[in-house]
Amino acid sequence: MSVNTNARIVIVGCGISGVAAAQRLVKAGFHNVRIVEATARSGGRIKTGRLGNNIVEIGANWIHGPSEENPVYHLARQYGLLDPEALTPENQAMDVGGHPPWVPNIFSSSGRKLNVEDLYPALEMFAELLDESSEFQSRGGEPWTNVGDFIRSKVQQRAAEKWKDIDGTTRSLRLSVISNMLKVECSVNGAHSMDEVGLGAYGLYKTLPGLDCTFPGGYEGLVKNLMSVLPAGLVTYSQPVRCVHWNNTEKRGYPVTVECDDGNKIAADHVIVTVPLGYLKKHHSTLFHPPLPLHKLHSIQRLGFGTNNKILVEFDSPWWDTDCEVIHLVWEDEDAMVDQVPDVQRYWIKKLFGFTVLKPTERYGHVLCGWIAGHESEYMETLPEQEVSHAVTQLIRRFTGNPTITPRRIMRSQWFHDPWTCGSYTHPGKGCSAQDLQNMMEPLPTKSSQSQPLQVLFAGEATHPCYFSTVHGAVLTGWREADRLISHYSSSSSSELTMSKL
Ligand SMILES: Cc1cc2nc3c(=O)[nH]c(=O)nc-3n(C[C@H](O)[C@H](O)[C@H](O)COP(=O)(O)OP(=O)(O)OC[C@H]3O[C@@H](n4cnc5c(N)ncnc54)[C@H](O)[C@@H]3O)c2cc1C
Repeated sequence: MSVNTNARIVIVGCGISGVAAAQRLVKAGFHNVRIVEATARSGGRIKTGRLGNNIVEIGANWIHGPSEENPVYHLARQYGLLDPEALTPENQAMDVGGHPPWVPNIFSSSGRKLNVEDLYPALEMFAELLDESSEFQSRGGEPWTNVGDFIRSKVQQRAAEKWKDIDGTTRSLRLSVISNMLKVECSVNGAHSMDEVGLGAYGLYKTLPGLDCTFPGGYEGLVKNLMSVLPAGLVTYSQPVRCVHWNNTEKRGYPVTVECDDGNKIAADHVIVTVPLGYLKKHHSTLFHPPLPLHKLHSIQRLGFGTNNKILVEFDSPWWDTDCEVIHLVWEDEDAMVDQVPDVQRYWIKKLFGFTVLKPTERYGHVLCGWIAGHESEYMETLPEQEVSHAVTQLIRRFTGNPTITPRRIMRSQWFHDPWTCGSYTHPGKGCSAQDLQNMMEPLPTKSSQSQPLQVLFAGEATHPCYFSTVHGAVLTGWREADRLISHYSSSSSSELTMSKL
């Protein structure tokens, strides 16, 4: 079947979804493809940097679920970007349901290293409740609107039954651990609070088997390899798009015009928009002319897009155990199961749930990655780096009881104030359903319209029905929209052929 490959296709955004779409279209023979990117680089939320001599990730960190079904795993393996352990069948077969069984160290705000055994019941109860939160998606009729309320009320019930003979101090500590785990989930989900994550839609997110792995040479290696097959000059950098004019009525051939900030106008048959949901929330009214249909707009508003940032910290020597993979910082005054601080400016640092340890030590030395979500994280972005460093140092000294610990250097991400991202990634907000993600990916004009089809298409992590918030989700959406156009032209050229035979 022949494909008409002359169509003019503009892709807005050179993140991994835009690159994936371009790669697929170019491979199918389309030769009028271009990407317009606001910044001076490709990769978007895949961003590798340096902390001293170390390669560190400022954005995406892991391949979540590195196994056969994961396109990122496939590509990374094909390009030779992974460590041998990640390639083993045992690694691929581990099904951890999105929560890798990391070895924890737990410290408390009174400067004690806590006995993990004593706290396991709380960790287990929390894990059970997260699993249960996923079940409402298929069942419907959820008892609470959001995951936070569901977990809190269930812990209250179950603690009353199961922990009734436990002493008050341990019980209170376990409840404070629940607060810590709620903050972990704020980071995982990219949400300010688990009270903002819809219970009915929480289970829409699906995981893949495989123990999460990283890119030893940096995640950006994936982007570079994918881009290496694109013709030179296909991407125009530092070219923000101001408005996508669709349904053009002037009969000059092209249904869409992409208007850039510098006034440049690009005529196109099709535009694939890959800008982040955070950007869409803020700029939808000026980015599209005519405006988006209401059902699409409402889905953009219902879906959540919060902030999760990293604070990378390097030390001369470790203050955690050799086998430790994650450090939790538990505030003893938080037995009310809270994941938000009362006064953001004063207590923002309390939202940092702890650190993951960069492994292997031979490669990274002693580097921790702190995780902080929500409005507290957004406030952190506004502070001078020195102030962040001071707050982290005080925090670690307090929790370890060691007043001499001093980081060698720190570095933090600032995804909320990145004008082209406006946050970190997507989560299902309260009242969301599978239909919202369907609406996100629906091309314009909608099916009922008489105008030229597939003028504006939508890709990017926020448009994947079950892998939103991930790199593999983003790749799949880029391929999906490229395939939509490829099959459109395959079927239109075959129907043209059929017509001419009649
Ligand atoms: C801190 C953090 C940690 C993460 N960790 C992981 C992880 O461990 N594993 C994982 O799988 N995922 C992770 N993610 C999510 C992952 O990074 C994203 O899902 C994925 O990279 C999104 O790709 P995308 O192409 O959809 O969007 P983006 O990468 O955001 O690409 C969109 C592009 O559009 C450009 N753009 C925006 N507006 C305009 C405009 N007006 N004109 C032109 N260009 C514009 C942007 O500059 C950007 O380059 C993480 C994200 C963050 C922030």
